[in-house]
Amino acid sequence: MTAMLSSTQMRRLPPKPPRSAHDLAAPILLSPPHLTGREKAAVAASLASGWLAPAGPTPRAFEAAFAEATGFAHVLGVASGTAALTLAFRVLEIGPGDEVWVPGFTFIASIAPAVQLGARPRFLDVCPGSWTLDAALLAAELRAAARQGRLPKAVVAVDIYGQCAALHEIAPLCAGYGVAVISDSAEGLGATQAGLPAGRGALLAAFSFNGNKIITAGGGGALASDDALLIARARALADQAKSPAPHYEHETTGYSFGLSSLLAAVGLAQLSKLADRVARRRAIFARYQEALEDLPGLAFMPEAAWGRSSRWLSALLIDPAGFGMDADGLRRVLAAGGIETRPAFKPLHMQPVFRDAPRVGGKVAEALFAKGLCLPSGSGMAPAAQHRVIRAIRAAARG
Ligand SMILES: *Cc1c(COP(=O)(O)O)cnc(C)c1O
Repeated sequence: MTAMLSSTQMRRLPPKPPRSAHDLAAPILLSPPHLTGREKAAVAASLASGWLAPAGPTPRAFEAAFAEATGFAHVLGVASGTAALTLAFRVLEIGPGDEVWVPGFTFIASIAPAVQLGARPRFLDVCPGSWTLDAALLAAELRAAARQGRLPKAVVAVDIYGQCAALHEIAPLCAGYGVAVISDSAEGLGATQAGLPAGRGALLAAFSFNGNKIITAGGGGALASDDALLIARARALADQAKSPAPHYEHETTGYSFGLSSLLAAVGLAQLSKLADRVARRRAIFARYQEALEDLPGLAFMPEAAWGRSSRWLSALLIDPAGFGMDADGLRRVLAAGGIETRPAFKPLHMQPVFRDAPRVGGKVAEALFAKGLCLPSGSGMAPAAQHRVIRAIRAAARG
């Protein structure tokens, strides 16, 4: 195309960033896996060792490395983040008659395992300044519940899009009522709160290594705690709750939730690059903000005063009055250009499955859903690809 233009015509064109065939054609995904180059050798070594299943040295080595990275004394590697949450609810003996409180603005896996165990969810609103559980609202609701004798068995604090929940407030608050805190840190790995790694301060913290998370094991998760007994119990439940005996002996029923050696090998390779992945995601967020913040009607996800976000996903709010189209309109325009984005979470209290569940507030979560969009944020995204996203958003704003 450029070859057909005279040099004068070319000079009139606006400067363009370098392009490659890849830049023009390839779809840009929301948050695809980012390989380190070490995974292949790690999996090959695992295969050569003969250890493939959730046993042997590699899952244990991954657990030790993960404990080191997160500051927890005890870690159990499992098959998914949802499995880790299931075990958290099980070891706290959550069941019929119990309430579990959770922010409405989250992924369903934050609460689904508790519901499957028979617990009733209660959805609390989030803060506009962090998009995470509103600690002041939680304080008021705990006070009211204590008066009425209906305290929850557990509160799930959730890290959102790489931003940690305010555990430095939530954990002491819940401790005052004897309520356990579980941190769903599936989206928080690599972020900090009050100077501590994601999940610290909670009794139990769950992490995910799903393909779209900040690091991936090709699937997998972890449950972490400083309480050795809780993790020992979770470890037994994750392997079918076998009592010590040469035959199979069971005093309760468990799960087949182990982390396979092959996935643990991938996880170990990925974990070695965690700090780099956080730095890259933060740089991607900063570039979007710098390139787009002059556009009317856009507001980027704020960073809470209490922590340093990993910016796992670059999220922003779109006010249609200022921007000229709403979040879903922009999502569709970008999708037509091969750019994948995702709407902000539809609040759980708006989900058909939870239509009868009690809620406390919810207007903030509803506004985030109405206006929120997550942009492509993969740590392996090339600058040219991000530039393509930025150009497409600027073009949509003008149109
Ligand atoms: C990804 C995610 C999970 C579930 O993790 P899986 O490994 O996919 O089971 C749970 N909670 C939140 C907030 C998540 O983003």
